[in-house]
Amino acid sequence: MDLDERVSRLVTTEVESQYRSIFENAVEGIYQTTFEGRYLRVNPALARVYGYPSPEALIKGLTDIAGQLYFDPKRRDDFKRAMAEEGIVQDFEAQVYRADRSVIWITENARCVRDSTGRILYYEGTVEDITQRKADEEQIRLLATVFDNVADGILMVDRDLIVRAVNPAYENITGFTRAELLNTPLDFLAPGYHEKTFIESVWAEMAARGRWMGEATCRRMNGAPFIAAMSISAVQGTDGKHGHYVIACSDISLRKKQEARIRHQANFDLLTELPNRWLTTERLEQAILYAARGKSGLAVLFLDLNGFKQVNDALGHQAGDELLKQVAKRLRACTRLSDVVGRLGGDEFLIVAADATEPRVGASLAQKIIYSFADPFQILGREIYCVPSIGVAHYPDDGNTAELLVRNADMAMYAAKQNKSHPVVLFEPHMLSAAADRLDIENDLRRAYERKEFVLHFQPKVDSTTRVIVGAEALVRWQHPERGLVPPAAFISLAEECGLINMIGEWTLREACTQFVRWREEGHNMKSVSVNLSPTQFLDRGLTGVVERILRETKIDPGCLELELTESAMSVDMESAITTLGTLKAMGVKLSIDDFGTGYSSLAYLKRLPIDVVKIDRSFVKDLSTSMVDGKIVEAIIDLADGLGFNVVAEGVETGEQAEFLRNNHCELLQGYLFSKPVDAAAFSGLLDRPPQ
Ligand code: C2E
Ligand code: MG
Ligand code: MG
Repeated sequence: MDLDERVSRLVTTEVESQYRSIFENAVEGIYQTTFEGRYLRVNPALARVYGYPSPEALIKGLTDIAGQLYFDPKRRDDFKRAMAEEGIVQDFEAQVYRADRSVIWITENARCVRDSTGRILYYEGTVEDITQRKADEEQIRLLATVFDNVADGILMVDRDLIVRAVNPAYENITGFTRAELLNTPLDFLAPGYHEKTFIESVWAEMAARGRWMGEATCRRMNGAPFIAAMSISAVQGTDGKHGHYVIACSDISLRKKQEARIRHQANFDLLTELPNRWLTTERLEQAILYAARGKSGLAVLFLDLNGFKQVNDALGHQAGDELLKQVAKRLRACTRLSDVVGRLGGDEFLIVAADATEPRVGASLAQKIIYSFADPFQILGREIYCVPSIGVAHYPDDGNTAELLVRNADMAMYAAKQNKSHPVVLFEPHMLSAAADRLDIENDLRRAYERKEFVLHFQPKVDSTTRVIVGAEALVRWQHPERGLVPPAAFISLAEECGLINMIGEWTLREACTQFVRWREEGHNMKSVSVNLSPTQFLDRGLTGVVERILRETKIDPGCLELELTESAMSVDMESAITTLGTLKAMGVKLSIDDFGTGYSSLAYLKRLPIDVVKIDRSFVKDLSTSMVDGKIVEAIIDLADGLGFNVVAEGVETGEQAEFLRNNHCELLQGYLFSKPVDAAAFSGLLDRPPQ
């Protein structure tokens, strides 16, 4: 070996050892394999990637690449095909088994080494473990799917607040396209909806916590604002500073609207737009707190419409609804803006007036309301009269809680209901026991009919000149097993409320007619028997049928039956009253107006009604001897009634003077204690047998 040769070998050895070092220390796996799939040489890195303790262990253990290495054995075929066609594979990705059978992702770059004849000598190549990269890619793909498919709109901006990414939901919500937004400065708030301090506070919170959540009003492409639930998060950049901001928003305008509607529905009555029971009570509670602090008082008015049920029954719910709406309007018009006007339900309203230093304030407000109801309501082309009964309770005198005040005002309202000529009643403590009583009575009343506890009493009507009994008014009584004889005032309106009045009324009518026919058969020559009809009965559609049937059953001469009605029954709906009266009239029955003078109607108004008799209310008769004014009123009524062709009956005649005055003023018929109290049928027979006094 000459020097040159020695030097060249040395150099070759040196180069070889350098290559060996690279081979041994490379971070990538390096291999040579046979065409059939056996390893010839591998470096330690490949042993590590495949999970073998040493290159030798790998060569020994992994003898069949196609069968042992690839998770999907077909990948070896792909590899060989690429080699055959190209002589090279690049970035060949595959899943492979490691020694412990775990699966990893690798990427290979390899080439085929051939001899001078072109025969494949071996393959050589490098391997890299890309399992982590694959996982990252998968993660990114997932996130991108989320980004593209979430319902929330997402914007990504860089630290200079330039938009860098927009998802489809954001485009959908706002109407802006990705192209319009990308690379433009962030501008998503609707102008004019936010204080400067709001935006400052958002960024302050971002700076402190890296995150902000809340609601903001954003803008759409078309300029329309919408309320969005938003979150802004800072994403840390690689340098540890904020790299990006992610802004997510969802359009909650609809939800907000629904929430507002639900809140409104929960607090307000949909029909009248007034606060409902719940809100009214709450406002009353607040008013009590203010009043307590300011040492002032409150007036609480409980208002219930008279005859509302009748309007509803006779004209339909639409009319009822319309009436309630107009009533609400009138109440608002009567009250101050600071007063609470609420609808408790049905036809019940509550009014709370602040600064009511004494109960009189409530009473005068109530009076003002009554006056405002004197004009008829225009309902579906008809004129309807409807007046309320109002109970007044005063804070602090009548209660110091909302519950007590409402209950007591209700109690007073009930008292007002009982006596239609006093539409406003102030609460008094004794009403409480009356209410308890009422409950008991109501229960008993439901059973009274079956137990045959009703009885009819009769009160004579006498000729003012001859004092002969010419007629009788039938007046119902309730023979209560414990309470004794209960007068109608104590149970008629209750019977109306609990729906028993028609049954009681029908019984009364039949009983009165039967008794009258019996007296006639016994030879008594009375001209008429009169029966009272309550407003509810009068407005009931079945009334005319009932009257007709009873006329037929009892065979009473229709001209001898007189039906007594109050003005309030007819004023609810004048047109249908005229129709009903006409039908009754056509049957031959006589009609009379009871308690005349206590309602709103005038005689002129009566002219339109086919009635026969006017009964002057006993309140006018009572003061006849003492009050000149009432004398004049009675005279006027008699004169007018005469002129219009009505008969006149004076009720409640108790003294000879009254009888004298009435006779002198040509009042034909008199009724009252002076002649007899109402008595049962047997006693009345006795009166008929007695000669006139
Ligand atoms: P009304 O129809 O005005 O009946 C007259 C009332 O005055 C009766 O009271 C009678 O007892 C009373 N009265 C008669 N003369 C005098 C008198 O000289 N002085 C005084 N202070 N009072 C006198 P009653 O029987 O308690 O009836 C009260 C009201 O109850 C009746 O007033 C009527 O509206 C109603 N009512 C009575 N019976 C019935 C009935 O069967 N059905 C209906 N719906 N209502 C009835
Ligand atoms: Mg009567
Ligand atoms: Mg009367």
